[in-house]
Parts: sequence; C-alpha cells; structure tokens
Amino acid sequence: MDIPEVIRAIQKELGVSVDGYAGLETWQAIYNRIIPDAQPPAATSDRVDDRSEKVIATLLPEVQPYARALVTKAGVDGITIKVISGLRTYDEQNDLYAQGRTKPGKIVTNARGGFSNHNFGIAFDVGVFEGSQYLDESPKYKAVGVLGMDLGLEWGGNWKTIQDEPHFQLRPKWAGDLSERDMLAELRSRKELGKGAYA
Ligand SMILES: [Zn+2]
Repeated sequence: MDIPEVIRAIQKELGVSVDGYAGLETWQAIYNRIIPDAQPPAATSDRVDDRSEKVIATLLPEVQPYARALVTKAGVDGITIKVISGLRTYDEQNDLYAQGRTKPGKIVTNARGGFSNHNFGIAFDVGVFEGSQYLDESPKYKAVGVLGMDLGLEWGGNWKTIQDEPHFQLRPKWAGDLSERDMLAELRSRKELGKGAYA
C-alpha cells in the first residue's frame, strides 16, 4: 500500500472526498474524529479572500475560524463562496428592517435591531460565486449548508419559518436547546451588561 492509497482508504472511512490527497477537509475530519469537542483550528495563517476577511473581521473571535473553515471547505469541494455579511449594529438592522416597509426595496429581514443574531457578531452570510459573478440562488447553497453543519454551525436553510440558505451562526454553549427567541433575549441582555456572547 502506498501513501495515496492509505489516504484514500482513510477518506472513504471518514466520508470525505476520496482523492488520495489529505487537504483541509480530510484533516478536519480526522481532527473531529480523534479530538473530543473538536473545533476548527483557530489558525490565523489560513486567511481567505480579502472581501471575506473584511467581513470576518467584524465577527467575534470565536466565530472567525468557523467562517474561514467554511470558505476553505467549500473551495475544496469546488464551490467558491465569500462571506458577504457579518456584524450589524442595531441601527443598521433597523435600516434593513425598514427596507420594503417604510423605505423602498424588497423585504429582506423580519428582524428589528437586537432581534437578529447578526447584531451580536455570532452570525454571517455567504454568497456563492461563479467566477466573479455572485449567485443569488444556486443549489450550491444547500451543499455549503451541509458543510457548515459538519463544522458545527447552525444553518439558516434548516429554519422552519423563513429559510435563509446563505446564513450561518455559531450557537453559544449556554444556549443549549433554547429557542431562537430566548437565545436572542439573553444575547440582548448580555450585550447591555457588557458580557460576551460566548462567556
Ligand atoms: Zn444572516
């Protein structure tokens, strides 16, 4: 057995792409398998594209490696994504909420300021790209959703009310099985108290 053969056998067992080359996806799967409570490596060396990095910089440090890992993981699967939306202030959220209601445009959110996970730096949205072309809709969003869930992120495509395929968020451990509503209430009160979302 040569090394690529060994890697292929391991990849098959891990359920990742079988190509005989142990890239990030394979190492992540090995890591997840052998290290309890595995989290994506908090590496700063694996920077992704500049546009994504600008948005990633607005997220809480706990979330940043997840966002980078998702961009990289999708890339390994041949899907180009960029992180296109991250933290929004309450004011920015209210502006967005006004869109399609009291301001022109179509409705893009049902959340007012303080009622979106984006207001706490724990959520981000991705865009799928084909070359430099941004795709508003694509079956690839579902594939990316699966990759995000593999990483331990919550995916907006699973939501029952408004499905939001570009959306991902990292649920704090204290939130356990809390409803979104209760989790957001706690996040608002933590923010007021100056207590971190993941503290
Ligand atoms: Zn979102």
